Amino acid sequence: MVSLWLPGTLSPARRVRDLSAVAGAAVDVVVVGGGVTGAGVALDAAARGLSVVLLERSDLAAGTSRWSSKLVHGGLRYLAHGDIGLARESARERAVLIGSTAPHLVRRLPFLVPDVAGRDVTALAAAGGRLGDAVRLSVPGGRGSLPSTRRVSADEVSRLVPGVRPGRGGVVFWDGQLVDDARLVVALARTAAAYGARVLTGASVSAVDGHDVHAVVDGREPLAVRAGVVVNATGVWAQQLAPAIRLVPSRGSHLVVPGHRLGSPSAALTVPLPGSRSRYVFALPQADGLVYLGLTDEPVEGPVPHDDPEPGDAEVAQLLATVNQVLAEPLDRSDVVGAYAGLRPLVLPASAGAGPGDATADLSRKHLLRWDGPVLSVVGGKLTTYRAMAEETVDAVVARLGRGALRSLTVRLPLIGAAPRPALERVAAPARLVARYGAEAPVVEALGPAAVVAGRPETVGELRFAVRHEGARSVADLLDRRTRFGLVPADRARAVAVAEQVLAESD
Ligand SMILES: Cc1cc2nc3c(=O)[nH]c(=O)nc-3n(C[C@H](O)[C@H](O)[C@H](O)COP(=O)(O)OP(=O)(O)OC[C@H]3O[C@@H](n4cnc5c(N)ncnc54)[C@H](O)[C@@H]3O)c2cc1C
Repeated sequence: MVSLWLPGTLSPARRVRDLSAVAGAAVDVVVVGGGVTGAGVALDAAARGLSVVLLERSDLAAGTSRWSSKLVHGGLRYLAHGDIGLARESARERAVLIGSTAPHLVRRLPFLVPDVAGRDVTALAAAGGRLGDAVRLSVPGGRGSLPSTRRVSADEVSRLVPGVRPGRGGVVFWDGQLVDDARLVVALARTAAAYGARVLTGASVSAVDGHDVHAVVDGREPLAVRAGVVVNATGVWAQQLAPAIRLVPSRGSHLVVPGHRLGSPSAALTVPLPGSRSRYVFALPQADGLVYLGLTDEPVEGPVPHDDPEPGDAEVAQLLATVNQVLAEPLDRSDVVGAYAGLRPLVLPASAGAGPGDATADLSRKHLLRWDGPVLSVVGGKLTTYRAMAEETVDAVVARLGRGALRSLTVRLPLIGAAPRPALERVAAPARLVARYGAEAPVVEALGPAAVVAGRPETVGELRFAVRHEGARSVADLLDRRTRFGLVPADRARAVAVAEQVLAESD
């Protein structure tokens, strides 16, 4: 396999080099977990000049980070709870992603709240949207980042979401949408690798003994690394390395439906959950013509499973019933072509007892930083605010290492593939690839423009690129994380043979 050199390439050859360099080595930071939090921390630390190893037991974005609503949001919900500080942080980080670090991965998306959901609902949405605009205007880079909230006519409602019951107007506010949450994680991990971080997937950390981190690679090879600090970024699994943290996860589920069933919307449809003033069901249009319908909030009992969570029957019913309130032609279960769920880490405060009614702190809103010896756990937060969270985490790391003079650089550090919008518009490759790979899209295009399967936009070049430069090593890496065939199981089944062929090319 002849391969081009790209910055931060996670090529098979680099993996071999990194594995041998890491074995028995001593480094400043070992990051455990390759979700958005771990990848963000690895980048912040490597960019400051620390030596960094990231160990991920499965694959990049194997956990919660690929099960999100894929929104880069300004925190309207935080405003509803009166948490202006958190809303400002979200709005600031949204402007950073849209404006400099990942303009290729984030698009501006209108959110329609139709009057058919109730005039009191649109009045509240208009007030919330205007408050959100004021917060946006108050943060650096916020002014030009998004259009402002406004009322729209009945005609405009029909144009934005043709499937809505006709005849009434509505309110539109704006937010950011990631083309794919897993792609953000891959871009972060590669950018960290470009700054020298050694990123190893298939490396499951089994124990941390003082400063010694013990892992098992590909289920066989033991690996030991000595770390100045260990950052535990294992999300809902954080308890394994920090037993004192008490997690009570809650499941959030989405359904996948073909966009034509809502008239191929160009805006996200926003419908309040019956009885709630701050929780909504969104019908989120995707670039590939699908619509994701979410979100639920269901407590999960018992230990956190390693397997991917699945939406429950009642959640499917709740999502369909809520959105159907405003649709001219209601959706039913036969319209659902896929479904996914992710677990929010809710953390019990150390002071809480074990009985019913004990308060939980919702860490899906704010993150937790906690030291246990040389292990610093960072749990919770949002995709949107990963960078601020990583900066705070690495500030604590450098203080502990006695290297506090090293400052975070990430606020102005473009991720791999990023370029200013005018430059992205000039990239000589199909717009769909530019939205996923940015300035690297021509390389992906040159690796094979043919579709993986008829009726889907993903190309063979994307799979080859994933194997040669993005650390993909299995069919699941290719179809469930570097691309998202897995969100529609019938399409995934058709793509398996091509994924296997592409993996065989690299043997
Ligand atoms: C349903 C839902 C919707 C959401 N929607 C949004 C949204 O629209 N916008 C937004 O900003 N945020 C959203 N969030 C929040 C966001 O998705 C999470 O905050 C974020 O993805 C958490 O990332 P993480 O890296 O901390 O955890 P994870 O992504 O779960 O990463 C943890 C990683 O650690 C690895 N790991 C675990 N144990 C070990 C071990 N022993 N050794 C090595 N590796 C290990 C796992 O394999 C995993 O890859 C949503 C969350 C949920 C649940």
